Amino acid sequence: MSKGWEKVFYICAFITQGSSYMSPRGYGIMHRLHHAYTDTDMDPHSPSYSTNIFSMMLRTTRILSAIINGKYPVEERFKKNVVDWPAFDRFANSDITRLTWMAIYTLVYVQYATSPWLYLLLPVQWAMGAFHGAVINWFAHKFGYHNYEMKNTSTNLFAVDVLMLGEAYHNNHHKHPSSTNFGIKWHEVDPVYYAIRVFNRLGIINVPKKKLGEDPAHIISTTPLAEKAEMVKHDVIQDN
Ligand SMILES: [Zn+2]
Ligand SMILES: [Zn+2]
Repeated sequence: MSKGWEKVFYICAFITQGSSYMSPRGYGIMHRLHHAYTDTDMDPHSPSYSTNIFSMMLRTTRILSAIINGKYPVEERFKKNVVDWPAFDRFANSDITRLTWMAIYTLVYVQYATSPWLYLLLPVQWAMGAFHGAVINWFAHKFGYHNYEMKNTSTNLFAVDVLMLGEAYHNNHHKHPSSTNFGIKWHEVDPVYYAIRVFNRLGIINVPKKKLGEDPAHIISTTPLAEKAEMVKHDVIQDN
């Protein structure tokens, strides 16, 4: 992706996340830590190391902000080729910017709320990004089904995931972290995989053809025999 497009997506993240904006750079680094240290005490968010969803969200927020402020010890390998726009991050992460978004959301409630009870939803709206993250980082490490037996607690939360745009096939994603397609079984349709293909066709991103072909058939054809046996055992592919 060119530096120009990187900036466009930074701004898109800012507009869609508003008061709960999470730096794409910070989240990218934190997500790599999650893959490297899944379900250990070095994992930035694991239900195995938090007593409830809110304490996990708080821990995640603290670690994310320490990463952004350069106060969290991160090995160089986790920072390699991660997007970066420090000046924009400083603006978007500032208290005044977050408070401005919170005021805007509140004004929308003032204008449109049909019952005072609706204001109880305001704190959720203010922290929407953290809640969205927790849906996967908590529930897709607790409930759902497995396509793969892994040394971590990752699950596929929904058999068909429209709500989280494919993110809920989290067990598949932990097994094949660099695959552009999170779906493995026929019903696991990953909408973002098709968005990636469109972006690639438009020249916005440049995914090597080999990577883009990582649909289930490709993954299966390049999977070592021992893993294939595992997949057959778990009903991911047919034994023929
Ligand atoms: Zn995970
Ligand atoms: Zn990932």
